[in-house]
Amino acid sequence: MRAFVLSEPHDVAVREWPEPIVGEDEVLVSPVQVGVCGTDLELIDATIDQAYVRYPLVLGHEWVGRLTHGSTDIGPSGTAVVVEGVVPCRHCAPCARAATNLCENYDEIGFTRAGALGELISVPRRLVHVLSHDVSLDDAVLVEPMAVVWRALTRLPLREGLNVLVIGDGTIALLAAHLVGLFSPVRTTLLGRRPEQGNLALAAGAQEFAVATPTTTFDLVIEASGSPDGVASALQLVARGGVVILLGLPPHGTQVQVAPDDLVNNDMIIQGSFSYTSDAFAQVVGRVNEKRLRPSFLITHRFDLEHAPDAITALRGDSSNEPRGKVVIEVARD
Ligand SMILES: [Zn+2]
Ligand SMILES: [Zn+2]
Repeated sequence: MRAFVLSEPHDVAVREWPEPIVGEDEVLVSPVQVGVCGTDLELIDATIDQAYVRYPLVLGHEWVGRLTHGSTDIGPSGTAVVVEGVVPCRHCAPCARAATNLCENYDEIGFTRAGALGELISVPRRLVHVLSHDVSLDDAVLVEPMAVVWRALTRLPLREGLNVLVIGDGTIALLAAHLVGLFSPVRTTLLGRRPEQGNLALAAGAQEFAVATPTTTFDLVIEASGSPDGVASALQLVARGGVVILLGLPPHGTQVQVAPDDLVNNDMIIQGSFSYTSDAFAQVVGRVNEKRLRPSFLITHRFDLEHAPDAITALRGDSSNEPRGKVVIEVARD
């Protein structure tokens, strides 16, 4: 089969690759669309912690596909599915308390086992989620990054009527603006750097796109830029009694100054969130099936599998002033 393979750091190409062997309790899926993201760049560039990678690696962890064979417990051949990427061991202490994002035996599709940028992939059947027949695959391809955002938003109960600021204008920030809409905020503002991202922010559900730091404070600040400046701004722009959710991942070793008396005096909550739990993934699938999450507005670039290297170039960005949302590779014509 054809696959987009990272043979070793910096060596990535579309090539012939052995078809997967279907293991016990696995099912063979034909990927249709696969999104790529900054984490794929970290895999290619080897800037990710190497404990989380196994080479050679078929890339692809944000995806939607179709069952190749009917299965009594899942559905008929051709059923559209999404698949949890994190493969929990189900035996460790975090798994036992449903914190599958913290599984002590890390294993993830597109990181330590073959991803979806190949014509076929074999996946554990317990991780397969069936999509409603009328769900757009353009919406479904974004389930995985939405699960990351959903887990962050639901770790603590969010009340309705919040004044929300999202810092960042990349796909995670735009998805955060979209998902927070389910919690009925009074207003969502997105603080970005690139004015050309403004229309995507409004499509996500934000009422305002700002490039200048706001002069007011917010009940909830979601930091999704992954920059130290973004984290510092988040701490400054949260109102008394407010919550800061850190979703972006700054470079390892980054330091940001914090005044602890402000945290206490302002009754502030700062919350990190890592990856997603099985529960968060299932909840996002449910809302996609109900059409309450429709993130397909975010897809701005499409390539076929043979042009996957061009998708990586597009993802790295250039000096053009084009809006950039999700970059998607179409593995199979649907
Ligand atoms: Zn990703
Ligand atoms: Zn585990």
